[in-house]
Amino acid sequence: MAGTLYLVPTPIGNLSDLSQRVIDTLAKVDFIAAEDTRVSIKILNHLGLKKKLVSYYRHNVESSSIAIVQRLLGGENCALVTDAGTPAISDPGEQLVQLCAEEGIDVVALPGPCALITGLAVSGLPTGRFTFEGFLAMNKKNRKTHLQSLVGEERTMIFYEAPHKLLATLEDLNEVFGGERRIALCRELTKLHEEVRRTTLVEAIACYRENPPKGEFVLVVEGVQPQVAEKITLEEGVKLVTELRERDGLSLKDAAKRIAAETGLPKNELYQNSL
Ligand code: SAM
Repeated sequence: MAGTLYLVPTPIGNLSDLSQRVIDTLAKVDFIAAEDTRVSIKILNHLGLKKKLVSYYRHNVESSSIAIVQRLLGGENCALVTDAGTPAISDPGEQLVQLCAEEGIDVVALPGPCALITGLAVSGLPTGRFTFEGFLAMNKKNRKTHLQSLVGEERTMIFYEAPHKLLATLEDLNEVFGGERRIALCRELTKLHEEVRRTTLVEAIACYRENPPKGEFVLVVEGVQPQVAEKITLEEGVKLVTELRERDGLSLKDAAKRIAAETGLPKNELYQNSL
């Protein structure tokens, strides 16, 4: 009989977030597949556990997942741990779960720390409906296509971002959603320097230009207000374009784009009628 793959969440910063079930599962499995064995050894040492580790990370997904699946099919039980948080969420766990599902191997997910849920919960933005967007692509074109697909998104949006790319990402979000859009920047969650900055995109950019960002971030961005799109006429939209140009010195194209994002009015009509 085949073994079971356990998806074992690990702390996103605070070691006290290791649950009893996580500890029991790590203790009972035959081996652990770890994204970074050095990170996982620290957790095992903290728990006083000695276990066989195999490496499963972005660059060996294919070969390592086949080897792990062979062992599972041979009856061994495996715990998958990634660097932090819930395996399979924005990390290579996704592929291993897919492969196990295809092979009919049982997969059991233990609930636990996950940066996106922790960030959403503390954001102060609507949590009833949300969409997780992960990391934006590095490639400019893919990034733009991704963001453009979110222009009319009414649900709260959650992004992951690394500190060295934060400013560029905020600038891209600003271009698509407009500077007044609310954002919660959740930094170093559960860690010593945990901070939640609830602000607007334009203010966030000003803040991080002054103080270069450090640490890990979850960005929680409010969706477009549905009632704005219903209430504002094209004529009012054109007026907003003019006001924005006078206030922020934007080109007609950029101002039309931003007001379109904020109101849901068609960009081209705003542009043509503002000429
Ligand atoms: N699987 C993980 C989870 O369940 O959240 C996410 C892995 S993803 C490779 C890493 C990203 O998660 C970071 O770049 C950051 O955006 C976010 N993240 C992880 N830990 C965080 C923390 N303590 N505070 C804020 N963001 C965090």
